[in-house]
Amino acid sequence: MKDLSLNELKQGLKNKDFSSVELTQYYLNQIKDLNSQINAFITIDEEKSIQQAQQADQLISKNHFSELTGIPIAQKDIFCASSWKTTCGSKMLDNFYAPYDSKVVDLFNKSGAINLGKTNMDEFAMGSSNETSYYGVVKNPWNLDFVPGGSSGGSAAAVTSGMAPAATATDTGGSIRQPASLCNLTGLKPTYGLVSRFGMIAFASSLDQAGPIAKTAEDCALMLNVMADFDERDSTSIKRDKENYTQSLTSSIQGKTIGVPKEFFNNELNQDVKIILEKVMQAYQSLGVNFKEISLPNSQLSVPVYYVIAPAEASSNLSRYDGVKFGYRASNYKDLEEMYLKTREEGFGDEVKRRILVGTYVLSAGYYDAYYLKAQRIRRLIADDFIKAFTQCDLILAPSSPSTAFKIGDKTEDPVAMYMQDMFTISTNLAGLPAISAPAGFINKMPIGFQLIGNYFDEAKILNFTHQYQSISDWHKHLPGGVL
Ligand code: GLN
Repeated sequence: MKDLSLNELKQGLKNKDFSSVELTQYYLNQIKDLNSQINAFITIDEEKSIQQAQQADQLISKNHFSELTGIPIAQKDIFCASSWKTTCGSKMLDNFYAPYDSKVVDLFNKSGAINLGKTNMDEFAMGSSNETSYYGVVKNPWNLDFVPGGSSGGSAAAVTSGMAPAATATDTGGSIRQPASLCNLTGLKPTYGLVSRFGMIAFASSLDQAGPIAKTAEDCALMLNVMADFDERDSTSIKRDKENYTQSLTSSIQGKTIGVPKEFFNNELNQDVKIILEKVMQAYQSLGVNFKEISLPNSQLSVPVYYVIAPAEASSNLSRYDGVKFGYRASNYKDLEEMYLKTREEGFGDEVKRRILVGTYVLSAGYYDAYYLKAQRIRRLIADDFIKAFTQCDLILAPSSPSTAFKIGDKTEDPVAMYMQDMFTISTNLAGLPAISAPAGFINKMPIGFQLIGNYFDEAKILNFTHQYQSISDWHKHLPGGVL
């Protein structure tokens, strides 16, 4: 069961090979067997999931099918889901039950999908390793001594270990693509504004974007068909006709051009990663794709620019956690000010505090022009580089992560080394562009992905190119062994 695609699960439900209750129970049992070792889920509610599955079975018995009727999907614990606890990986929200559904959860409910549980994540989505969660480290199912990537490490670990067929995730600087790369999965970060952020707990609002993590491009396309929808409750949601992302998966890509940025493929690129990417290029060449060297001259500045803009926005977004309206409140305080101070001191973890401090600093009078404004100017230059590049190619190839997964604890003392994990992913968030990471091979038995970046709203093209690669390669079919 665990290697079936979403389409195969759909077909199985249609043919009555199994019911939605049986399917959901299968995944809940997988979670029972594996979660104590992997820690991919924060909240599981068997009763609620089974109840939803029973409703789906009733629809199925009447032959009423929507996009994902009866299929269990894991939800990153950043998405509010009414009557489910929503923690965002933080002690601050350990007691938080949202009174409403996020748009993403609402769309999955409407598509007939079953909520399988809420997945672990770095606290407030700040991290690249899933080590900052209040609920503990998530382990990489490919080797339990290694990180699964972050911040959507719980979603990635759940899917690659067979605890869920697919999961939602979010990507502010790489949090869909980097864990996908480290866990042998396909993860798509859509164009900024394609998926509503309503009810998705905010980290850095101008960068945050939700997307799917699944085994294949085909599964991601099915998920995106559900997730991409205009929402008037998100002022950055973009109104456009709904697309069918599965339609063009099989179109020929012969004669198309992929750009190769010379700044990413330089001597600093890990040799093993380079070899893997060259093999990806050969596969595309066999499909009739041409390669062209392009330049993204400002991309090297993307990590420092991001670590000004993202903390600035985070410091503003996280000011709402003051112990007054919802979330954690310290118990011993003598006046209002001490209540604020103790609540934030006790409720936030170290990485979140670091971001709030940096963010407040770069926004403060006297430093705003020197840091924040300058970062915004460079952000524009980074986006302009991409716009220029897309006049010469259809998509851009890049590494997804600088290396395979690293050992738990290896980078926790060195925040800059941790931040560099996203050196190949962050520029697309700054530009608002869509990008995917898909399995490309293994180095020392650990998986690694490649990245394809597209122009605005080129999700269908990205999925098409990835699906074509997956139809002539089988990296995405490999499953972790070991304890599993
Ligand atoms: N690793 C980056 C950070 O720590 C990106 C996280 C994300 O995409 N949510 O901010």
